Amino acid sequence: MIELKIKDSSEKVKVNNIFCIGKNYLDHIHEFAKPEVPTEPVVFMKPNTSIVQEGGKVFIPEVDGKFISQDLQNEVEIVLVIGKDCYQVKEKNALDYIKGYAIGLDLTLRDLQAYEKSKGLPWTVAKGFYSACAVSEIIPSSAIDDVKNINFNLEKNGEVIQTGNSSAMIFNIPRIISYLSQVFKLVDGDLIFTGTPSGISTLFSGDKLKAQLENLLELNIEVK
Ligand code: MG
Repeated sequence: MIELKIKDSSEKVKVNNIFCIGKNYLDHIHEFAKPEVPTEPVVFMKPNTSIVQEGGKVFIPEVDGKFISQDLQNEVEIVLVIGKDCYQVKEKNALDYIKGYAIGLDLTLRDLQAYEKSKGLPWTVAKGFYSACAVSEIIPSSAIDDVKNINFNLEKNGEVIQTGNSSAMIFNIPRIISYLSQVFKLVDGDLIFTGTPSGISTLFSGDKLKAQLENLLELNIEVK
């Protein structure tokens, strides 16, 4: 069982499912050779055992002694934490189901994902490997005044390489929750990664990553 701490509290959240939205920022979509803007949210999942937390290490898996990728990449994302079971939620009520927010990294094996895309295969290995999901502590939803104006960023070795604001999402936070809740049943403890802005990069052993959400949350991770 994986638990995340709520900041400045003894309370913890047991993580259930981890949903991720892909291609949710135009600037990121244009980082690829064939930019395609989705008309409905692009959804994939990670196992909840892929989580690493503050001070943890991310790494490329080895299968039978061989690294399965040469291209581990960063994607910094706002993470929603669902606080109540729900199904078929309307956008106008969607925020009622958010318990809090975290900052996270959707670590991606980009070369494998490109291969999987080219063959029409699922992204599970490229996106779901052990350590693919770095998540901070959680702040309560009351800490955020306006979900359409949340700033976040990522530093690599002390240099800012990604900056984002939730206003630039193609599918905003209420739409994401409403959409997912009409396809899936969402439950208390589900996490939703909401997509990355531009600034993806290849990571190397020893790189130090620091993700921040406003001045409220920080997540420090190292590449093994
Ligand atoms: Mg992502």
